[in-house]
Amino acid sequence: MPEQATVNPKLLVATHNQGKVREYRALLADLPLEVTWLDAEGVTFEAAETGQTFAENARMKARAYAAHTGLLTWADDSGLEVDALGGAPGVLSARYGAPAARSDGERYRLLLEQLEGVPEAERSARFRCVVAIAWPDGRVVTTDGVCEGRIAFAPRGTQGFGYDPIFLVADCDYQQTMAELAPALKNQLSHRGRAALAAREALARSV
Ligand code: IMP
Repeated sequence: MPEQATVNPKLLVATHNQGKVREYRALLADLPLEVTWLDAEGVTFEAAETGQTFAENARMKARAYAAHTGLLTWADDSGLEVDALGGAPGVLSARYGAPAARSDGERYRLLLEQLEGVPEAERSARFRCVVAIAWPDGRVVTTDGVCEGRIAFAPRGTQGFGYDPIFLVADCDYQQTMAELAPALKNQLSHRGRAALAAREALARSV
C-alpha cells in the first residue's frame, strides 16, 4: 500500500498583513501546523474589533474567525499606552487622531504635540500585545506581552512602523528608539515577540 502523506492541521493567522504572517510563520515553523492567513483562505468577512481592551479585541477576532472558517485561529491586538495621557492611545492606536491624522508620521507627531512640556520623568509608556488562540469548538487562550519604555522628544530611526521612532526602549537603557533596533532584536524585546512566544508554548502543548 502506498504510504499516506500526513496533512498538518491549518492554523489561521487572522490578519491581512503579510509581514505579520511571515514573522508568525517563522516563529511557529517547527510545530506540526500549516500556517495560513485570511487572504490565502479567501476570507473577506471582517470581525468586529469593538472591545475596550487588547484582550477583548484579540479574543473577539480569534473566536469570530474560528467560528467562520472552522479553523484553529491565531489573532492579536496591540498598541501603545502613554501614562501621561491616561493610557491613550491604547486600543485606538491605529486610529489615533483620525480622520485628520492619516499616516504613522502624522499619528506620532500628534502624540509628541500632546506631550509638549511633559518632562522626561513623566513620559513613561509601553507597547502591549495580546495574542488569542481560538479553537472552532469555542475554547480560547490568551497570552500577553509588554515592552516598557518612554516617549522621546523627537523621532529617530527608520526601521519598524507605527510609533517605533518615538519609543525609547527601557531594555536598551532608553538609548535607542524601537525604530533604531535591528528587526531580530526588536522581535526579541517587543511586546509582540513576547506575547507570541508565550502563545507558541500554549499551542505546542495542544498539538
Ligand atoms: P495592530 O494590533 O496590528 O492592529 O496594531 C495597532 C496599532 O498599534 C498599529 O497600527 C500601531 O500604530 C501600533 N503598534 C502596534 N505594535 C507596534 C509596534 O511594534 N511598533 C509601533 N507601533 C505599534
